[in-house]
Amino acid sequence: MWKISWNYIPTLVNIKLKRVVAEAWCPRCRLTEEDSIHVFRQCSTTEEVWKHLCLAWVLNTNIQNAWEWLNWVFNQGTNEQYHLFCFGLWLIWSNRNQLLYENKMTNSRDISRQITSYNLELQGLEDKLRICEEGRLHNQDEQRTRVTIHFDAAFDQSSFRSTSGLVVRDMRGEVLVSKSVLHSNVASSFTVEAHAGLQAVRLGIFLGINTCEIFGDSKTVIKKCQKIDFCFIPKTENTLTHIIAREALKEGASYYLENGISEKVCHEFERIRQMRPDI
Ligand SMILES: [Zn+2]
Repeated sequence: MWKISWNYIPTLVNIKLKRVVAEAWCPRCRLTEEDSIHVFRQCSTTEEVWKHLCLAWVLNTNIQNAWEWLNWVFNQGTNEQYHLFCFGLWLIWSNRNQLLYENKMTNSRDISRQITSYNLELQGLEDKLRICEEGRLHNQDEQRTRVTIHFDAAFDQSSFRSTSGLVVRDMRGEVLVSKSVLHSNVASSFTVEAHAGLQAVRLGIFLGINTCEIFGDSKTVIKKCQKIDFCFIPKTENTLTHIIAREALKEGASYYLENGISEKVCHEFERIRQMRPDI
């Protein structure tokens, strides 16, 4: 798109070709005909502008095709130089138009000042955007740290199988993930709860949560794992995870669900809530 518009930029040479004007002398220096390379690189005022901006290196080439010259400049420069150069092209052209159509002459020093000032304004805007973005990311981080993971377990002593039930909630209490994991060859009820606690930590790591509170109703596990921030809650406040574990044990299946709980767990939870409105 830019390439096309660049080829059609109405320099005097281009509009002379279309027979719009009879002569194409550069309105600034009047030494040669005005084509793109002359306006943006070879005219003496333009050369001075690039030097004032510490971009004199853009002149160090014999490339005569304007589009190739631009590519050459973009490949050499840094990101900051690229911005400055683009503002340079734009203001060199608009000052050339003012001279041609309004007879207003601006010297190279003033054109450079205009370019620097636009560039600083853009930088200021970019800084503001960056600060806003950093603030937004910080808020997201804060929200992530207010995630809670609840765990509970169900045990079938006759088959030595157990299940871990897990629920991850966001700061508003909405269920982000519900999960069940089936364990076999489970020796004791302590191992059952320990499996569930471990699964809660693993799930937190898997979801990339840096800090969170993990709630379970097994005091034994919580007391033995003091290095991790486990919090004790009464069984009555851990009903959902208990149902997940119990239902999974009945079905003998593990699952992982994002943004909610299974229909079966939901029905069971509602049934228990009707019997015990305190949960
Ligand atoms: Zn000139």
